[in-house]
Amino acid sequence: MGVRENLQQVQERINAAAARAGRDPAQIKIIAVTKQVQVPEIKEVVDAGIVDLGENRVREMTGKMTELPPEVRWHMIGHLQTNKVKYIMGRVELIHSLDRWNLAEEIDRRAGKLGVKMPVLVQVNTSGEKSKFGLSSGELPDFLAALADLPNVAVKGLMTIAPYVDNPEEVRPFFRELRLLAQKFNLKHLSMGMTNDFEVAVEEGADMLRLGTVLFGSRIY
Ligand SMILES: *Cc1c(COP(=O)(O)O)cnc(C)c1O
Repeated sequence: MGVRENLQQVQERINAAAARAGRDPAQIKIIAVTKQVQVPEIKEVVDAGIVDLGENRVREMTGKMTELPPEVRWHMIGHLQTNKVKYIMGRVELIHSLDRWNLAEEIDRRAGKLGVKMPVLVQVNTSGEKSKFGLSSGELPDFLAALADLPNVAVKGLMTIAPYVDNPEEVRPFFRELRLLAQKFNLKHLSMGMTNDFEVAVEEGADMLRLGTVLFGSRIY
């Protein structure tokens, strides 16, 4: 099946999940995750109306930037090395993966140089899985308080990556936790939900879904 058909089916599933939760599906954004996807295939999804694309590696992202139309909005969704911040500053819509203080400082410094205020999401490891990046819920309050003193960083919300499980119901508590944290700190955006669990994420309040496999087919990440 082609990318366009996949997108149509995904949209129907999002609509159904939103309806179950009494939410407006228009408030839920699909970010097409294009890592290891070639440009012609990415263009199909852009032609089908997706303008938000996510990548987890800086070099892959910047390589593709020049080959795709300028209306594309790029999202950095993966663990970001401090020494790579300079390559994306001023070129990405949102950094989803702010997960440590020295990265925040570097983003602030680089954004300041360019005279921009960089929108970010703070990554929270709500499942506590050892292999995942992100702050613990307990670390979040102090981290957010410290971020408030960085003039060139704008915190827009929270992001989490749920563990991969066979039954997505099992990750519902981790999405719910993220929503409650965002509410508590008055943050608007929730980036959560991937191919395996996006319907549960929608039911729990996600407004940015990061979708790769369900759109483009499976890759070896
Ligand atoms: C790869 C990736 C995704 C997309 O995963 P799928 O399961 O293929 O939808 C989402 N978020 C992050 C951070 C990723 O690295």
